[in-house]
Amino acid sequence: MWRTIRPFVRDGIVGFGARAGWSAPRQAAGKLTIATFHRVLPAERRNEYPMPELVVTPDELDWCLGLFTTNYTCQTLTRSYAELDDDKRGRPRLAVTFDDGQLDNLEFALPVLARHRVHATFYVVADAVGQAEPLWHDRVAYAWPPPGSTDEARALRLVTDAGVAISASETPTPMLPRLLAGLKRMPPARAEEVAQRLESAFGTRRPEWDRLMDWSQVRCVAGAGHEIGAHSSTHAILTNCDDARLEHETAGAKTTIESQIDRPVPAFCYPNGDHDGRVVRHVQAAGFSNAVTTQFGVNPPHLAPFRLRRCDIQSATSRDARGELSPQRLAWRLAALPGSG
Ligand SMILES: [Zn+2]
Repeated sequence: MWRTIRPFVRDGIVGFGARAGWSAPRQAAGKLTIATFHRVLPAERRNEYPMPELVVTPDELDWCLGLFTTNYTCQTLTRSYAELDDDKRGRPRLAVTFDDGQLDNLEFALPVLARHRVHATFYVVADAVGQAEPLWHDRVAYAWPPPGSTDEARALRLVTDAGVAISASETPTPMLPRLLAGLKRMPPARAEEVAQRLESAFGTRRPEWDRLMDWSQVRCVAGAGHEIGAHSSTHAILTNCDDARLEHETAGAKTTIESQIDRPVPAFCYPNGDHDGRVVRHVQAAGFSNAVTTQFGVNPPHLAPFRLRRCDIQSATSRDARGELSPQRLAWRLAALPGSG
């Protein structure tokens, strides 16, 4: 019962909040809001991707950018951050970011960004650029059998035998996100090994269109005025890396990307948002000047440059109880207010 009425109750609160001035952009003046996107795929491709919560369609992105540009000054992350202090009472600032360097960003996000004259920040995984294989979490997702199938039970045995701890859930939560959460607690080499074993046992359902950008495509994005940031070298969870691997994932990524695009790379993005004091020190020592997390929130004027908070934008977090795109709901999300997930 509550599950059915909850979205309508939420719409009522969100509408009241908008009228009372609780939500964005009223509360965003002098602050830096950072919007996170991953994949931009037309609906028919989204249906083929096993983690649809990471996808917005080009139309949804177009709608979001329309609202962003109406209410915010939108610039790349490094520029927004650098200019933030000058603008305490001015128009709120928002940086649009894309994680992982997927080819769909070039195909579907770039034309929409151009239409709105917005320059974004694209975080690429240095050693994965131009590689045929997807990132390790996508390899797992594409190999994981359909929910409820007998193969899924076999796959579950395979991963628990490999030592992956999967948290119990009382509600019927899909297995894949819980598996990925378990893998993210393991050393990178073991997580990659599990991805390999799943692929050998169950093959891959990776669609033919799924590709990471190559360097000429990354240069094309940079050439259009967008910022290229580093998203590590291999998308390893950095808190699980030893010092040598951490050096490769931070300083190594910076050197690789700078040599390929021939411009400085001051922006870093922690894979899965995971960071601690040691990781932050490595990122600083590598010469980056800012780093974004996945911690949900808006950044105040005196913000911590290596712990920047973001608002990840999903199709579901922008729609009301009837499934319609809702400006009030997106504004609530952008203000990082409770219950906006
Ligand atoms: Zn990522």
